Amino acid sequence: GLQVRTFENGPALWLTALPVPDVDTHKYRRGHVGVFSGGPASTGAARLSALAAARSGAGAVTVLSPANALMVNAAHLTSIMLRKIDDTAELEAFLAERRPSALVLGPGFGVGEKARDFALAVLGAQGGVEGLVLDADGLTAFRQQPDLLFAAAAPKDGPALVLTPHDGEFARLFPDLATDEVLSKPERARKAAARCHGIVIAKGPDTVIAAPDGRAAINANGAPWLATAGSGDVLAGLVAGLLAQGMPAFEAACAAVWMHAEAGSHFGPGLIAEDLPLALVPVLRALIAEP
Ligand code: AMP
Ligand code: MG
Repeated sequence: GLQVRTFENGPALWLTALPVPDVDTHKYRRGHVGVFSGGPASTGAARLSALAAARSGAGAVTVLSPANALMVNAAHLTSIMLRKIDDTAELEAFLAERRPSALVLGPGFGVGEKARDFALAVLGAQGGVEGLVLDADGLTAFRQQPDLLFAAAAPKDGPALVLTPHDGEFARLFPDLATDEVLSKPERARKAAARCHGIVIAKGPDTVIAAPDGRAAINANGAPWLATAGSGDVLAGLVAGLLAQGMPAFEAACAAVWMHAEAGSHFGPGLIAEDLPLALVPVLRALIAEP
């Protein structure tokens, strides 16, 4: 029994849930986002996610880097913090000590056991973690055993899971749904969300955001300028930034998709992913009144 409801994605759906800082707030009350970095040859994607999380208003962002990529990350980060994490023990220590509110795993990370172990450790974390955004390699890492991921996301009191697959990534995790010719994209996304116990952002020119309870929102402000390397990494960071600030997962996902597209269409020709975090600023300004 899904209670099927389909919406058009736009501010009417989530504006009242958009985080606005209290005048007496503190940086850690505005949410702390952790972004897992890949190895030394693929660190840029995590920094794109990290910058987007910071621009969304999260009060603190930390890039979580393997030892062999600390220096290249350090050389390219200023306001964003950096922490060495090479194994699950170090991850558990970070979760316990620094209490991040949302994490991003996947952009540039590499596919393998480490991605799976880290994702499962975050989903099993006790208290405090609001959500995990799995994108890119973080999705592909589960292609052989998607049920492992879905089972870990099932407990209602655990972190919210948000998946951000493009068509190829969607087909790896949900091969039967991807090849079902009868289903529309919103129906596929809705079934996927119910199966994974999380929010599914099925990306593309016609992005659909679906929740396990049957809600689906169809995005209509997509901009083809977003079809550029790294733009998905920015979206993943943006979702995490909003989750970290306490926004409910479906609303955070819908708001992130809409703002990302709006930033892309405002920027227009010449857009590269590096431009997107800053291009979010006028979009946020137009939505959020002075606290
Ligand atoms: P990725 O495939 O992970 O690099 O993510 C690409 C991002 O760009 C997603 O947010 C897509 O929804 C968006 N995107 C890609 N192609 C288009 C398009 N033709 N029109 C609008 N958005 C697009
Ligand atoms: Mg991607």
